[in-house]
Amino acid sequence: MSANKIKTAIKKFNKFLISSHINPEGDAIGCQLALVSLLRRLGKKAVMLNESPVPHVLQFMKGTENVLKEIPADFNFQAAVILDCPDLSRVGRVSEYITPDKVVINIDHHISNENFGKHNWVDRNISSTGEMIYDLFKAFKLKIEYDEALAMYVAIMTDTGSFRYTNTTSRTHRIAAELIDKGVDPYEAFGRIYETSSLQDINLLGEALQTLKLTDDGKVAWLWVTKEMLKKTKASLEGTEGIINFARSIEGVEIAMLFRETGTEGRIKVSFRSKGKVDVNKLAAFFGGGGHVTASGCTVFGKMKAVEKKVLAKAQGMARDI
Ligand code: 5GP
Ligand code: MN
Repeated sequence: MSANKIKTAIKKFNKFLISSHINPEGDAIGCQLALVSLLRRLGKKAVMLNESPVPHVLQFMKGTENVLKEIPADFNFQAAVILDCPDLSRVGRVSEYITPDKVVINIDHHISNENFGKHNWVDRNISSTGEMIYDLFKAFKLKIEYDEALAMYVAIMTDTGSFRYTNTTSRTHRIAAELIDKGVDPYEAFGRIYETSSLQDINLLGEALQTLKLTDDGKVAWLWVTKEMLKKTKASLEGTEGIINFARSIEGVEIAMLFRETGTEGRIKVSFRSKGKVDVNKLAAFFGGGGHVTASGCTVFGKMKAVEKKVLAKAQGMARDI
């Protein structure tokens, strides 16, 4: 499926629900904002709905105040566009609204995508869903406006680790260049997202770094964010974004892992990053999660030590094979 096929599908409907995954980041929110704008410019009605609130650092983008938690009672949509989600369960509570009479349009770039829609446009080789929404603007021959450009730039910037990860291509840069030509200021976009940490967040980073450990072979590094650390530093879970990169940055490390106590008893959120040799999507999938080859995650239930032991054993096994 391509942007043109999705264009044909979109043309058939007038009322859309646009959703993305729980705990959304730049790609999820950026795509929702750009797509809602595209649909409204086509004269269609569209509502953005997410289970989780928009992270504080993304709220500088215009339109984020319109991301709803509940659907308006009189809004009877025909099609649900699900962005940046490998499977329908990732939309969380929003799935309750997606009854069998609704047409699901799935636009995503996760390797683990389950083609859960009626219309599935899944490009596993593309940096971000943001690049795909850009293609949709091109398919509709719409001139990109500033706010749309900013939203797509943020989507692409955040999912490529600011144009550093292996998913960054010359095309990614060409798209970014075009978005900059529409008025996006890269310095400002970067600063808004990555240079607005609170002192609490940095204190939390300090605490988490104290837990950093490395396997004897130096291939797996991991660290923890516990409930106590969050309490002690008064940092938010949002402030844990990026901590995992310190583990990944160690020379020789092939798998980095971050264990987070989410607040719900016995529920540990595990994030994985790799340098490309190990497919951490497979690692996450083993524990019921998913993602990409170099970035993935899952939730594991159990006590801290037991979860760590179990996940570490699997990760070490995979790292040993390379
Ligand atoms: P993060 O570690 O930043 O939360 O997520 C990294 C990547 O893994 C993202 O692309 C995200 O969509 C995916 N991911 C994280 N947690 C889960 C999960 O529990 N299930 C699935 N299927 N994917 C996840
Ligand atoms: Mn993405």
